[in-house]
Amino acid sequence: MIYKKPKFLIWNKKFDIPKEKQTEMIIDAIAVIISKDILCPLRKRAANLLLKALLPGYTEIIEDCAVVVNRNDPLVIKWAKEVKKRDGYKCVKCGSTKKLHAHHISQWSDDPVNRINIDNGVTLCSECHAKEHEDIAHLILS
Ligand SMILES: [Zn+2]
Ligand SMILES: [Zn+2]
Repeated sequence: MIYKKPKFLIWNKKFDIPKEKQTEMIIDAIAVIISKDILCPLRKRAANLLLKALLPGYTEIIEDCAVVVNRNDPLVIKWAKEVKKRDGYKCVKCGSTKKLHAHHISQWSDDPVNRINIDNGVTLCSECHAKEHEDIAHLILS
């Protein structure tokens, strides 16, 4: 059997993930896709990872509808950067340019599909952000 090496180039460039880690991610992704739990929210993300790894030139097609599960996911970090950039690196409520956060208009827990939708984000300073989340205000301000 001839083993054909998957093309990781684009993936590499974009996420800067070491190759061994990528292989591990692919194995995990396959495991998720073939699992019996068809409602598993990771399936879309897994399919996205596989396409990214295996299709040269594939970048953004499914990214828009990918469901991310981890707040540290590179897609979430990219989302936050793009939201701040769009808002001119200013709090949309008070205009402050310090301690900026990207806030989800429709909440992370309520709306998984829009977790990385730029239109679902606004830039807020930590003080304005804390007002949006009274329950965790102390964490935002700390
Ligand atoms: Zn928020
Ligand atoms: Zn503010």
